[in-house]
Amino acid sequence: MTAVSPVAPLLAGVPARLPELRTLYEDLHAHPELSFQEFRTAGVVAARLREQGWDTTEGVGGTGVVGVLTNGEGPVVLLRADMDALPVEEKTGLPYASTARGTDQAGDDVPVMHACGHDMHVTCLLGAAGQLAATRDHWRGTVLAVFQPAEEVGGATTMILDGFRDRFPRPDICLGQHVTPTPAGSVAIKPGPIMAAADFFRITFFGRGGHGSMPETTVDPIVTAAAAIMRLQTVVSREVGANQSAVLTVGSVHGGTKENIIPDTAELTVGVRTTSTAVRERVLASVRRIVHAESDATGCVKAPEIVPISTFPVTDNDPAATEAVQSALSTALGKDRVLTLPRPVPASEDFSTFGTELDAPSVYWCLGGTDPGLFASVDMTSASPPDVPSNHSPHFAPVPEPTIESGTTALLAAAAVWLRREPAA
Ligand code: ZN
Ligand code: ZN
Repeated sequence: MTAVSPVAPLLAGVPARLPELRTLYEDLHAHPELSFQEFRTAGVVAARLREQGWDTTEGVGGTGVVGVLTNGEGPVVLLRADMDALPVEEKTGLPYASTARGTDQAGDDVPVMHACGHDMHVTCLLGAAGQLAATRDHWRGTVLAVFQPAEEVGGATTMILDGFRDRFPRPDICLGQHVTPTPAGSVAIKPGPIMAAADFFRITFFGRGGHGSMPETTVDPIVTAAAAIMRLQTVVSREVGANQSAVLTVGSVHGGTKENIIPDTAELTVGVRTTSTAVRERVLASVRRIVHAESDATGCVKAPEIVPISTFPVTDNDPAATEAVQSALSTALGKDRVLTLPRPVPASEDFSTFGTELDAPSVYWCLGGTDPGLFASVDMTSASPPDVPSNHSPHFAPVPEPTIESGTTALLAAAAVWLRREPAA
């Protein structure tokens, strides 16, 4: 007797759920919330999970929600969705467009929009959760439905630091998806790195201020910062091989208040994106080396400060698990709707934090969310089709149909690779 996949019964009820999921999606879209402020969203999620019979824990790592559905002996599957929105003013013109405003971490009043599509992720995972609860006779195992706060600022780490490992069953596999500006109805996946690692930090140089006419009595941190900015440009060009990739961007530089004052300090913010651990470690070590050396070269009064702002690991797809998921997605969605990405996407995600911290393999895929008609007029070989709004754009507007259906189906089909169905002898 061998276990067979329970995928057919899991998928059978998806079409009947779509009208309700569409209403849910429009409600979530109209009520976006900033990172770590997803109180309403978490409430909607927790209420639905409880209705469906999930053992539900709220307030994990701030506003995170974890549902556990234990259903006999079998593997533990973690399904993850993120819940936060962005400080972007929505310009989609949709009837359910957001007019919400919020208060950001600096205390400023800002517009809020689901410009990264996390409302789609919540909708699809709640759809999958409903199906899993309704088909308990057809599968065995345990499913964790993880609704994460604050993906945009690395909220996965706060869930881990809140005792995730000890409070919930350890997963055998972690699965996640992200809506992208690719044709709706399709998914895209690849083994190995699928999204870049990102490291963001703030660097402060400590000089000694004084009158602009008497630089000899000062240590000028502006000159130090300028030298560091230029030297940092050599990290990727001189230290990263031609067959490897990295991006290093100095995103801001601040120092001083007036043309005749030499300030005490100057500050940079820097972002580094890489797709391999070795390259990441080398680039970060080079940044530290250069920043300290330029500080010493100027004679700064104390060592520079390098303070992390946020860190996202490489989103690294386990090769064997990815092959199994890709095959399951091809069966569920159709082979021509499952694309293989040629290279990692340069954006970053914190989804891999779960797999890394919980010692489980993970698989992540891109969920097409854009009206396929928009692709008819653009050159698909172009890196960024100009007419198609990307994530974080005020015009980013995933089409609910068929995206909700394909996203819900994809989660269930992938989960079913691990969940068991014992045939009746
Ligand atoms: Zn985003
Ligand atoms: Zn996102």
